[in-house]
Amino acid sequence: MHASILRPERWLRPTPAGLYCEPADLFIDPTRMVDRAVITHGHSDHARPGHRRVLATRATLAFMAHRYEEEATASDRQALAYGEPLKINEVTLRLEPAGHILGSAQVVLEYRGSRAVVSGDYKRRRDPTCPAFKPQACDVFITEATFALPVFRHPADHEEIARLLHSIELFPERCHVVGVYALGKCQRVIALLREAGYEEPIYVHGALEPLCAVYERLGVPLGPLCPATGVSRDALKGKLVLAPPGADDRWLRRFPEPLIAMASGWMRVRQRAKQGGVELPLVISDHADWDELNLTIAEVGASEIWVTHGREEALIRQASLNGLKARALSLTGFEEEC
Ligand SMILES: [Zn+2]
Ligand SMILES: [Zn+2]
Repeated sequence: MHASILRPERWLRPTPAGLYCEPADLFIDPTRMVDRAVITHGHSDHARPGHRRVLATRATLAFMAHRYEEEATASDRQALAYGEPLKINEVTLRLEPAGHILGSAQVVLEYRGSRAVVSGDYKRRRDPTCPAFKPQACDVFITEATFALPVFRHPADHEEIARLLHSIELFPERCHVVGVYALGKCQRVIALLREAGYEEPIYVHGALEPLCAVYERLGVPLGPLCPATGVSRDALKGKLVLAPPGADDRWLRRFPEPLIAMASGWMRVRQRAKQGGVELPLVISDHADWDELNLTIAEVGASEIWVTHGREEALIRQASLNGLKARALSLTGFEEEC
């Protein structure tokens, strides 16, 4: 038995098109068009268009269908529920929650006695809009490294939401305009506001509306939302508007004394907030911070860590210090999200 164990580096490898699992003949989050893709989540750098066959959670397929105007239920689009095993050739594949955005999944691959987990993007704290990350014991753990520096320690999100609500109270004449990433961050910020007891209508930029509707259709209630356009200036005093990051000045001019806020893990970097003209930076991230990354690596018990998109070096050094084998996977094509 022991002799037949095949280490993951023999059957899972980075290629120019993305991470490739040879015995199942599939790519995970490929950056080029492929015959068979497994997609971890709906963000556009992971879920690209044009693959012949796609395997993902139902929510991820819904986001892709929305963005690429394809049929989520087409025969070459296969939805897999969390925890449901699928055998492809000799490989057993499962999706497990990644806690990043609605539908986000880790891909668990088992082949000839070893197990690799491709975690995609993930975070460890509670998010009212998606199921929590579930650590999976494995031999090789592939992790993102977006915030993989000890300086990145995200504060509690309810504290950041409290700061926003406090600011709205302090400036009843002004309109708060919060920059949010359209898929995931937007809906999470809304859900956190509702949890904090904010029941007012929230005004949303047209670019955010359709994705909010998909969330609601998938069973995530967001409370009263209104379009941010076509509302009188006076009616928006003391109100809250959500918009994609970097909404242009002309659009902002319609609001009374707009107070610009931004919800992003990058708001931890003061310079980024300043550059974006952000008056109220809110550190709310959908990625694991330094402690969450290291906690996760410890929990999954893998002897080997492969690190991708972000600041690989620090995490690799930390894993090596803890006696693990660690290396950077040179996968290209991933963007730095908020
Ligand atoms: Zn993402
Ligand atoms: Zn990513």
